[in-house]
Amino acid sequence: MFKSGFIAIIGKPNVGKSTLLNRLVGEKVAITTHKPQTTRNRITGIRNLENAQLVFVDTPGIHRAHTILNRFLVDTARQAFMNADLILCLTDAGKEPDEDDRMIFESLREMTVPVFLVINKIDLLKKEALLPLIDAYRTRYPFREIIPLSALKGFNVDRLIGCTVDLLPEGPPHFHPDLFTDLPERFLAAEMIREKLTLITQREVPYAAAVVIDQFKDDEAKNLIRIQAAIYVEKESQKGILIGRKGQMLKEIGRQARIDMEAFFSARIYLELFVRVRKNWTREARWLHEFGYGGKSGTS
Ligand code: GDP
Ligand code: MG
Repeated sequence: MFKSGFIAIIGKPNVGKSTLLNRLVGEKVAITTHKPQTTRNRITGIRNLENAQLVFVDTPGIHRAHTILNRFLVDTARQAFMNADLILCLTDAGKEPDEDDRMIFESLREMTVPVFLVINKIDLLKKEALLPLIDAYRTRYPFREIIPLSALKGFNVDRLIGCTVDLLPEGPPHFHPDLFTDLPERFLAAEMIREKLTLITQREVPYAAAVVIDQFKDDEAKNLIRIQAAIYVEKESQKGILIGRKGQMLKEIGRQARIDMEAFFSARIYLELFVRVRKNWTREARWLHEFGYGGKSGTS
C-alpha cells in the first residue's frame, strides 16, 4: 500500500515555515531569513519514503495585505491550502498568539481537510511552559494533532512525518521518486541570490528587490554553470545601496550566493550580477507578472 498527498504549510510570516520545509525534505529548497515575507511563491518540497510520497507546499506568510505584491503573497498561500490533503498550521512557541494568528486559526475551522497545529521553535520555550500551551490550544481549537517541534534543531520532526503519513490518502506518487522539488533550476538560483541580498541589505531594500535570471548555461563538459542575473529594485537610491561603495555590496552578495549554488548544483558557478531600476514594480501588475509574481501561483 502506497500513500501520497499534498501538505500545505501555512502560518504568519517568520514562524519558520520554510525552515520546516527544508528540514522535512532534507534539502534546502526554500530560502529562509530572519526577516518576515522572505517567501514569495509556492515552494514545493518532496519527501520520498519507502511507502509514501509527501509533497509539502511552503507558502508566503498570511498577513493583512496592502500592496498588490502583498495581496499576491496572501492569495498564493490561500490557493495552496485549498488544494491540500492536510494542512500544517505553524505558530511560534516563543511568541504570544496575536490577531493574525487568531485570524488564521479561526479561518481553519471551516476546512474539511485535517489540520495539524505545529508549535515551532520549542527550543526557545521553557520545558514547563509546553504542556499548558498545548492544553490551551486543545481546548480552544479543533486541531487533529498538536505537534510541538523545532524546525531549526530538528526536534520531533520525525513525529510530524509519522502523523502525516497516517493521514494521507492511498495513491501512487505524484512525482518521480528522485525529485525533491519541482522548481526549475533558474528559480532556485534566483532565490539563492534573493536570500543573500535579503540578509545583507537593510530596511526596505529586500522588499523592493526581485531577481531575474537572464542566462543559465550549463556547460556539462566543464562542470560549469554560467549565470547572469539581474536584481530589480524600485529606486535609484536602492540601486546605489545594492551596488555599494566600489561595488563591494554586490560583490559580497554574489560571493555568498555562488558558494550556495556550487554546493546545491555540484558544479562550478560563474555568476554575474546586474542591478536595474523598475520604478514602483511592487505596485504594477505588469512588472509583478514579469518577475514571477503574477497570474497563476507558482514560479516562472
Ligand atoms: P517563514 O517566514 O515562516 O518561512 O520563516 P523562516 O523559515 O524564513 O524562518 C524565520 C526565522 O525563524 C529564521 O531566522 C529561522 O532561522 C528561525 N527559525 C525557524 N525555525 C526555528 C526554530 O525551530 N527555532 C528557532 N530558534 N528559530 C527558528
Ligand atoms: Mg518562508
